[in-house]
Amino acid sequence: MLADTPVLEVKDLSVAYETRQGSVQAVSDVNLSVFRNEIVGLIGESGSGKSTLAYAIMRLLRGGAGVTSGTIRVLEEDVYALSPETLRQFRWNKMSMVFQSAMSALNPVLTIEQQMVDTLRSHRSQLSPAQARQRAAELLQLVHIRPDRMRSFPHELSGGMRQRVVIAIAIALNPALVVMDEPTTALDVVVQRSILDEIQALQRIVGFSILFISHDFSLVAELCSRVAVMYAGRVVELATTQGLFSSSAHHPYTEGLRKAVPRVTAADVSIEGIPGTPPDPARLPAGCAFHPRCAYKMAECTTTRPSLRTVENATIACHLFADKSIAQEPRHV
Ligand code: SF4
Repeated sequence: MLADTPVLEVKDLSVAYETRQGSVQAVSDVNLSVFRNEIVGLIGESGSGKSTLAYAIMRLLRGGAGVTSGTIRVLEEDVYALSPETLRQFRWNKMSMVFQSAMSALNPVLTIEQQMVDTLRSHRSQLSPAQARQRAAELLQLVHIRPDRMRSFPHELSGGMRQRVVIAIAIALNPALVVMDEPTTALDVVVQRSILDEIQALQRIVGFSILFISHDFSLVAELCSRVAVMYAGRVVELATTQGLFSSSAHHPYTEGLRKAVPRVTAADVSIEGIPGTPPDPARLPAGCAFHPRCAYKMAECTTTRPSLRTVENATIACHLFADKSIAQEPRHV
């Protein structure tokens, strides 16, 4: 694989849910790439389509959801062209996922040791039970859990420890890509901080690429080198994290997310929310889906959906920058 070949390449991806009311578009025309050893953030409010995109990448869409167009390649393999058996091996070996809730990712009636040994041996049949236990102990040490906790059941561990176990299992087989879907959302701020440090350290030591999904702008800013902002199923801005905090052009929704990060001073804590709520994917507004909440709305925003265009150092879908934009195909992140 060439150094500049992405580990993950999502091209023109659309995902729809079949409902009794008809087909509802959850993700539309998404282009996104993650390169080797890179951490790319995917940010947006609930319902923006980011988790649907994560499940589509892992080929784990359920409940009437399906890819309607586009491709997903991991290590140059078309994920949707893999046979069920190849896919089973591909997951965990080449790509893995850390889910939001550790409790639902772990089996409550098996000890941590049983779960880790099972995962290791089902993908590495040459490992003896003793070797698999040894590897499980090493993995737990990597995430700062004492190996004697292996004999615990999930409910005997704290929320932070459970999430560390899930991360250890996700990297057990050295995948090239780990998709992390809000991995710290259910945790308190202090534990969240230590898990983030853990993820950063692991990524440096073990070396893998991460697609980090979050609704928290400050977390993404801290962890990721590049960020895709999603709204109503579409990527509306792609930029470097550094660029997101610069004074260059930004999508008004990105501006809103940035202002929604609490600012703490000696006298006060201030937070500026985005007015309104995200739209129902079954009833998206015409034109730019953000227009009912946008302070910069113009007449054409209510009729014409803006395309992604390169503006200064970012790629932005907004009519505000039509004059400033360079007319060219949108760049992949
Ligand atoms: Fe606001 Fe119009 Fe830009 Fe949409 S296209 S974000 S409504 S200015």
